[in-house]
Amino acid sequence: MMLPDKFNEECAVFAVYGHAEAANLTYLGLYAQQHRGQESSGIVSSNGVRHHAEIGMGLVSDIYTEEKIMRLDGHAAIGHNRYSTHGDSLYKNAQPMAIEYSRGPLALAHNGNLVNADLIRSSLEQEGSIFRSTMDSEVIIHLIAKSRKSRFQDRVVEALQKVEGAYCLALMGANELVIARDPHGFRPMALGRLGDAYVFASETCAFDLIDAEFIREVEPGEVIVVNEEGMFSSYPFQPAPKRHCIFEFIYFSRPDSNIFGYSVHRIRKLLGQQLAREAPVDADFVIPVPDSGVVAAMGYAEESGIPYEQGIIRNHYVGRTFIEPAQSIRHFGVKIKLNPIKKLIEGKRVVVVDDSIVRGTTSKKIVKMIHNAGAKEVHMRISSPPTTHSCYYGIDTPSRTDLIASTYALEDIRKYLGADTLAYLSIGSMLSCLAERREDFCTACFNGEYLIPVKTMESQLALLDAVKIPE
Ligand code: AMP
Repeated sequence: MMLPDKFNEECAVFAVYGHAEAANLTYLGLYAQQHRGQESSGIVSSNGVRHHAEIGMGLVSDIYTEEKIMRLDGHAAIGHNRYSTHGDSLYKNAQPMAIEYSRGPLALAHNGNLVNADLIRSSLEQEGSIFRSTMDSEVIIHLIAKSRKSRFQDRVVEALQKVEGAYCLALMGANELVIARDPHGFRPMALGRLGDAYVFASETCAFDLIDAEFIREVEPGEVIVVNEEGMFSSYPFQPAPKRHCIFEFIYFSRPDSNIFGYSVHRIRKLLGQQLAREAPVDADFVIPVPDSGVVAAMGYAEESGIPYEQGIIRNHYVGRTFIEPAQSIRHFGVKIKLNPIKKLIEGKRVVVVDDSIVRGTTSKKIVKMIHNAGAKEVHMRISSPPTTHSCYYGIDTPSRTDLIASTYALEDIRKYLGADTLAYLSIGSMLSCLAERREDFCTACFNGEYLIPVKTMESQLALLDAVKIPE
C-alpha cells in the first residue's frame, strides 16, 4: 500500500442542537464559512428519531434551495464545506457522511486530517469492512460502528483513541451531538449560544451571521456532548502539547474570526508590520494581492509609512485559482481574477504584499502583470516564511517537490518571479507576533518539524496492534 504524499484538505464544520431552525442556521453557518471549502457542502438534520441529508457539489449558494432546507427537519443539524484540490473531487467524498448502523443514524463532519487513517483502513478492510469513500474520516465511522460501548459518546471516544492527527469533529446520533477536537488543537473550533441552543463552528465569523454569542473555544482534547439533558464536557485523551495551525492566521481563516484566542485580523496585521521592519524597501506604494495579502499589506504600510493603495482589483465572481486542478487553467485563472490599475502603477516603485508563495505560479503572474502595467520596480514581500514542507494536518499543500521554496534558494525564486527584490518573513519574526504563546503553534510547513510524525509504513505497521478492534 502506498502512502499518499498529500492528504486531504481544509474544511468548515458547523453544528447546532436545540433550535427549531437548525437547518437554516447551519445553512447560514456554512455560508459564512464558504472560504474554508468550495468543492462540496452538506447538511444533515435530526428530528430526534431519524436523519435527513442534503449534500451536493459546489457552493453553498448553489446547492441549497428553500425546499431542501424545509426537508431538513428537526432541532439538531451538522454541516460541512469541503475543500479539495486533487483528483478525489467526488460526490462520494462530500460530507457530512451519513449512515445507518445497528444503533441508528450517524452523521459525521470532519475538519482536519488523520495521519494513520490508511493503516486503520487497510486493517479494517482485511477484516471485511467495505469503504464507500476515499476520505480519511470514514475510518472514524467504522470504528464507532464497531465499538461495543453502549453510550454514543463512549463509542466516539473509543474510536478517536485509535486515530492520530488533526480533527475537529461534529458527530450526530439520533438525538445527540458529540463535538471533539484533537489533543493538539491543530484546527479551530468554537462554541457559542443562540438562546437555548448550542452552536459550534470552525470559525467565529459563522456566529456573527446568526447573531450567536461566542462562549469559548472547544479546547484541545475536549469532547462535548449535547443532548436533551444539556451540555457536558470531558477530556478523555492523554494531554498533549498544543499545536495550533499558524497557517490559519496567515491565510486560511477570515480576518473577522477569532481563533486560538486571537483576532485573525490582529495577527495578520502584526505579520505585515513585522515584515516591514524585517524587510524594508523604498517605494511609492504598498499594494496587496487581493484578498489574501490585504491585511498584511495594511500592516506593512502602517509600519513603513509608505502609502497603501488598492492597486490590483479582484473580480469577486471567480473561484480561487488554487482550486483549479489543471496547471493550464491556473495560469489563466490569475488573469481572469486580478487586474492592475495601470494609471496608478505606471512609473512607480511598488511593494506587493501577499501572504504566501506555494508553487510560485500566482506570484510570477502578478509580478509580470505589474511590470506590464508600467511599474518601475516591483518588490515582492511575503508575510510568512518560505513554505518548504507539505502539511499533513489538514491544510491543502502540494507535494514537497512542487513547493518552490523546498528546492530553490531565495535568489532563484526572485529571478523566477521576475521581481526586483523578494523577501519572506522569518520564522522567528512570525512567531514573535504570537508573543508568549509561540510554543503553542505548528510551523511544520515552514521547518518540517512535524509533531506527529508522518508515519513510514514500518512505523505504521508497528501501530497495527494498537488499532486492532477488540474481538
Ligand atoms: P501559488 O501560485 O501556488 O504560489 O499560490 C500562491 C497563492 O495561493 C497565494 O496567493 C496564497 O494566498 C494562496 N494559497 C496559499 N496556500 C493556499 C492553500 N492551502 N489553498 C489555497 N490557496 C492557497
